[in-house]
Amino acid sequence: MNIFDELESGVQCYARSFPQTFHRAQGEFLYDENNNEYLDFLAGAGTLNYGHNHPVFKEALLEYIQADGITHGLDMHTKAKEAFLTTFNENILKPRELEYVVQFTGPTGTNAVEAALKLARKVTGRTDVIAFTNGFHGVSLGSLAATGNSHHRNGAGISLNGVSRLPYDGYFNESLDTTEYLDKVLGDSSSGVDLPAAVIVETVQGEGGINAASFEWLKNLENVCRKYDILLIVDDIQAGCGRTGTFFSFEESGIKPDIVTLSKSLSGYGLPFAVVLFRPELDQWKPGEHNGTFRGNNLAFVTAKVAIDHYWSDNEFSTNIKKKSLYIANRLKTIAEIHGDSSLTTRGRGMFQGIDCGTGELAAKITRNCLENGLIIETSGPGDQVVKLLCPLIINDENLEKGLDIIENAFAEVCTAESKPFSKKNQFRNLYRVAS
Ligand SMILES: *Cc1c(COP(=O)(O)O)cnc(C)c1O
Repeated sequence: MNIFDELESGVQCYARSFPQTFHRAQGEFLYDENNNEYLDFLAGAGTLNYGHNHPVFKEALLEYIQADGITHGLDMHTKAKEAFLTTFNENILKPRELEYVVQFTGPTGTNAVEAALKLARKVTGRTDVIAFTNGFHGVSLGSLAATGNSHHRNGAGISLNGVSRLPYDGYFNESLDTTEYLDKVLGDSSSGVDLPAAVIVETVQGEGGINAASFEWLKNLENVCRKYDILLIVDDIQAGCGRTGTFFSFEESGIKPDIVTLSKSLSGYGLPFAVVLFRPELDQWKPGEHNGTFRGNNLAFVTAKVAIDHYWSDNEFSTNIKKKSLYIANRLKTIAEIHGDSSLTTRGRGMFQGIDCGTGELAAKITRNCLENGLIIETSGPGDQVVKLLCPLIINDENLEKGLDIIENAFAEVCTAESKPFSKKNQFRNLYRVAS
């Protein structure tokens, strides 16, 4: 029996799909203890947008550690924090005309969500928050109340209060705009839906199955929030930091959230780090009212600063993500067409896409086949039925093609019995190169 089976809690999850013992990683590759190489299309569930151990970030981190830079400083001022805030302000907030203050929370996404929900309730004096079907916001009790997934909710052990659930965009069908429903119930004093403090939403639902809200729906949601004076919280923990093509996932929709949560890829290096951003008028916290020993991780300040300087001081990275996104969309559409007989559908936006396999069983067969061929990729959605592509954004064209070839091959092998001949590939030949 290995030490993991002997000693580690059964709560482990990804290790069940990927039981290898990993010991090295670089860029888009992971290596196990036997030096087998895997393309990493899981990327820390969206935490490694810039890949593993980015050489530029690593050098800055090593330098900082060598010079005895502050590792832990509670929420005291440090040079590392000063540098991060300056870069974040100059390269992220100002060019986007976003006037936010920055709150450093405990270093997990769920703690940022807790802070956002608390602040919204405190500022408005209201208790209820509206969250959406298939939303995922973390598993501590406040965030868990906003999370939809019953597997996670059942772990709470107590009732999860203070959240009303609303259907997300496309929950029924394409033509029904569920923000109209929200508008209607909030305007009806007998609807039984209390006026909420806030609405919390993901622009693309990651854990919920790569459901992408349309820009129009997000705009309409913002309008309803403004109409009833409700705060709009965008949980950008997974969709942010470039995943959909822009630093914030909501930029292209034109909405301006009152509160934004960021974590996962914010440090750039896989280090724990989370922030909440909000309009200055909302900054009604008393000192230490929401705190945490590890709020503000100085090592993460160092790598986050370098990541922003390196990738977000001009549009080049964003343009490159959009180019790869288009390629991924075309490849996935082709895979669905060739192997699906309309039973497979594609979903998502940017480099945050997936194929809905219809059943979790088929999706699991696909990801298992991928693993056997050197690709790590996971599923998401209520029945784990969506094969979820989350490769590092910095992946080079050749490896992106290679990863998609492995996925296509998996569908070809697993779906052989039902699918049309693989030779149909020739028709789509031009899609097999990343457009330059
Ligand atoms: C991962 C995630 C969280 C929770 O972050 P943790 O660091 O796991 O607590 C919250 N919201 C979204 C959208 C996420 O993807």
